[in-house]
Amino acid sequence: MRILVTGGAGFIGSNLVDYLMAQGHEITVIDNLSVGKVSNIEHHLGSERFHFVNDSILNLGTLERLVRQVELIYHLAAVVGVKYVVDDPLGAIVTNVRGTENVLEMAFKYWVRTVIASSSEIYGKSTQVPLREDSDRVLGPTTVGRWSYSDAKAIDEYFALAYARKGLPVSVVRYFNAYGPRLDPKGYGSVIARFITQALQGQPLTVYDDGRQTRCFTYVADTVEGTVRAATLREAAGQVFNIGSDRETSILELARLVRELTGSSSEIVHVPYEQAYGPAFEETRRRVPDVTRAREVLGFEARTTLEEGLRRTVEWFQVTVTSKSTVT
Ligand code: UDP
Repeated sequence: MRILVTGGAGFIGSNLVDYLMAQGHEITVIDNLSVGKVSNIEHHLGSERFHFVNDSILNLGTLERLVRQVELIYHLAAVVGVKYVVDDPLGAIVTNVRGTENVLEMAFKYWVRTVIASSSEIYGKSTQVPLREDSDRVLGPTTVGRWSYSDAKAIDEYFALAYARKGLPVSVVRYFNAYGPRLDPKGYGSVIARFITQALQGQPLTVYDDGRQTRCFTYVADTVEGTVRAATLREAAGQVFNIGSDRETSILELARLVRELTGSSSEIVHVPYEQAYGPAFEETRRRVPDVTRAREVLGFEARTTLEEGLRRTVEWFQVTVTSKSTVT
């Protein structure tokens, strides 16, 4: 198949590209390299089946030219990570809303099946456990920058569902804390990347608050598999799926595990949220997906254990992280 991957030089995007290339598809990546990196895709650059376009999804002309040539779109281009969003709210909102609007407009015009990458951040600070796809969203005020990401992704989902009502085969995947090789070692937006880098450099592991907040960390190969299933199974069209592991891990537990797997003697320190994110910040304390729909409709289950996934991620970081990269 001829496939377009927006954000294909990013963390999840490039892992998806590896998978699709291995299956023999012809892949075009559009990525403006704001977060993505050429090093994530450079091993494909010599292939006749691989095309890289260094441009933004805000450029409708480029997008139109690319979409009309493909049979399937994976839309992963976005400004992601709480810290990026808090630091540049305008850039994040424009890319995440207008960018998706553009992709879907072109997908509709040329009738191309599309998967939209969304996020567990959609649920906001909901205390419901586990979170089902039809659970309520609970958000704070607009003065708390963090929630703009949740709302931007929600608009993306509304767009997707509106086009689905018009018959376009489009699905939405909500990712739960993906991790693995190619996470940005600077750790902007991933606690796992931060902890591994800190541990390998002998710096203290910065656990925010009491560390009893939890996440369900999902190894990127599993994230990719769920995404591909949502893109290709006929029953998935028009639906939203939680894509993640349902194993809940506290941040303190994660810090200890990373320290153990890296053999590091870094201490674990507790840092107040305000110090990390500024004064107007709100946290999601628990975030656990209900994975019933993904299992029943997609036959998907996140299979990689946290220990195994972390081991592979640490190995990748050991090769990649140099003494020059420090977490900020
Ligand atoms: N976190 C932490 N120390 C860090 C970075 C993050 O304790 O150095 C915590 C953060 O407060 C949150 C969790 O780890 O509870 C996951 O944060 P991340 O930024 O990876 O993702 P998200 O908050 O979007 O789930």
